[in-house]
Amino acid sequence: MKEMFDCDLLAFAPHPDDAEICCGGLLASMSAKGYQVGLVDMTLGECSSRGTVAIRQDEAKNASEILGLTFRINAELPDCGISADGSAILPDGESQIERIVRIIRRHRPQTVALPCQSTRHPDHRAASELLTRAIFLAGLRNFKSHCGEAHTALQTIYYQMRFAFRPSFIVDITAVAEQKMAAIRAHKTQFGLDGNNSELPATLASSALSLSSVIARDSYYGMMIGCPSGEPYLVKNVLRLDDPCEYFKQCPGKGALFFPDELTG
Ligand SMILES: [Zn+2]
Repeated sequence: MKEMFDCDLLAFAPHPDDAEICCGGLLASMSAKGYQVGLVDMTLGECSSRGTVAIRQDEAKNASEILGLTFRINAELPDCGISADGSAILPDGESQIERIVRIIRRHRPQTVALPCQSTRHPDHRAASELLTRAIFLAGLRNFKSHCGEAHTALQTIYYQMRFAFRPSFIVDITAVAEQKMAAIRAHKTQFGLDGNNSELPATLASSALSLSSVIARDSYYGMMIGCPSGEPYLVKNVLRLDDPCEYFKQCPGKGALFFPDELTG
């Protein structure tokens, strides 16, 4: 019988660099606390307008070291070809959902982080849907039993990409904010930091305000919880809280500097 969980947090990212931008603070923060933190890049980013697969792999390795990840693997789904229902077949004959279910069952995460569905790149939307399906189906013992022993994560959390949502909770990442930005900058080709890109097409990531927009967003969410830098997360269930007095004492909700909208009621 396997241990219930083999890693504390497993994040999935459609392309190498997405996790650094969207949940890099959480990954660095949990790693610093000594948790087992894994990252799965779903594609190699071979359709990227900037950088080769080999260079991007090197950049991802450097970023992983900066974040202090326990492991980082690549699912090698096709870039710009992630299938939302996971039925597309990969070159080795395995379907996309089989590949993802196999990874979940192999690493047995306690918490899974994945992109929120409201996002811009079709791969990001498809990845969110595929992962949501795979996380559920990985827990069914008779679903693709050749892909490993069934595993159900304790919690699924969605990270924000380009479109904002009202977060279920915000993580204070102030202590690792510099680490997060260094991990993002490790993706030099994507952010136009490789010094040899004048002829390459401009992209959203390589635009002048790209890095400062990440800092601005983290400041915005940090202010909601009264700290300099925060990352927003969404859960689709209601979180249970049995001892509000103790929780608020340990993690005070007071101190918010900014209230983005009126609460209902
Ligand atoms: Zn992406």
